Amino acid sequence: MELETPTTFRDRPININESGQRKWIYAKQPQGKWYNRRTAAGWLAILFLVLAPFIKINGNPLMLFDIANRKFSIFGQIIWAQDTYLLALVMAVTVVFIVLFTVVYGRLWCGWACPQTVFLEMVFRRIEYLFEGNYRKGRKEQKMTTRIFFLKTAKHAVFLIVSVLITNIFLNWIIGPERLFEIITAPIQENLMGFTIMFGISLFYYWIYAFFREQVCTMICPYGRLQGVLLDSRSIAVIYDYKRGEPRGSKNAGDCIDCHQCIAVCPTGIDIKNGSQLECINCTACIDECNIVMKKVNKAPNLIRFDSVQGVESGRRSILNARTYAYSAVLAILIVVLAVTISNRKPIDATMLRVSGSIFQRVDSVTYSNLYMVKIINKTQADKVLTIKVITPLSGKAQLATGQTMLKKQGILESVMIVNLNQSTLTGKSTPIELGIFEGETLLEKYTTNFLGPEK
Ligand code: SF4
Ligand code: SF4
Repeated sequence: MELETPTTFRDRPININESGQRKWIYAKQPQGKWYNRRTAAGWLAILFLVLAPFIKINGNPLMLFDIANRKFSIFGQIIWAQDTYLLALVMAVTVVFIVLFTVVYGRLWCGWACPQTVFLEMVFRRIEYLFEGNYRKGRKEQKMTTRIFFLKTAKHAVFLIVSVLITNIFLNWIIGPERLFEIITAPIQENLMGFTIMFGISLFYYWIYAFFREQVCTMICPYGRLQGVLLDSRSIAVIYDYKRGEPRGSKNAGDCIDCHQCIAVCPTGIDIKNGSQLECINCTACIDECNIVMKKVNKAPNLIRFDSVQGVESGRRSILNARTYAYSAVLAILIVVLAVTISNRKPIDATMLRVSGSIFQRVDSVTYSNLYMVKIINKTQADKVLTIKVITPLSGKAQLATGQTMLKKQGILESVMIVNLNQSTLTGKSTPIELGIFEGETLLEKYTTNFLGPEK
């Protein structure tokens, strides 16, 4: 069915006017069952963002992306940067999950769980309603009175405070609550750099939520740009039932009375009657608003609803198709592989590299030594007492310079190591040797490197 809508909406972003200037969107506050559900989901998402770094599983945070120490805690499982294959697997699972989820449910994530939308719609927009009232047509043309000036100033002051709080939530995920507490409680001059970064991030968040707003979703977010390739006519999205609604207008036969209330409530300012658009974040505000209108004009609800294009065309919902099954199978396999790989990964990770620029040293008439830099990571939840032995050649001896062999759980040991070999075991200028890291008599890891000696 042909829609009776202009196509000018495709000429430029909805929040940009003819002369290229920003058109500010004053979205009306939604009300209705979908908004209530979204509010509950939004606050659950905020609760998760706030609490995840504090919740511990086996002593590890539920979520922590400790980039400085190249250590990630995902659902209590520590993954080190050295676990490259694991990180690659986690990323592959994440990408497939996102693709699968989007194919089936469209942009549901954006409107319901994405931190950008959740904070903007559940926190900042509500603060704005509190200070400036709900949507009023032409609010932007309001004259600046002393009262409005003070209300706007107060609103921005609260925005700034909330931005600082969001920065702390973000930093909790990056450096952990303990380190953040240290920075906050230390005198500013001791942590000038930390405070400057914190202030900078807070200002950035303030700018995003106070001014940039929906443009993150419509212009910047790469996930939003992917919609065009991921969605098909069977994907679930917020959709206007054009078969039922058209031709629109109060005197026409369709159910849509062209009241524009679905546009007034839209946080990205679009008209859902133009069909699925990249700017739609599936927030469902237009569903609620249209249902209110439908009730007033005594018509059936859900003229705008969660459905697929195919569902609207055929009158039957259809979310399962060959692509969905294929993605589900790949996702299930990846999750199993990920779980097995994590449970079977090595308890320690070691690198032993010859000290740069060093050659061999003669210890006595028959013994030569080489210096190595050793780094051992204990990936387990138990302290370990380790010894390093030369496995081949058998007569070789290894000794850590620090003498330290105790490695705390999730700890890192870095030390210089001296390896002594008998001249008779050297095969030339460079002899391959095999080192073993033992806990008691148990071999935890083998490491192969070279030993330099004199020419034979
Ligand atoms: S709110 Fe409903 S009736 Fe009003 S214009 Fe939008 S789709 Fe039509
Ligand atoms: S079109 Fe509807 S669902 Fe999409 S962003 Fe606007 S209000 Fe939300």
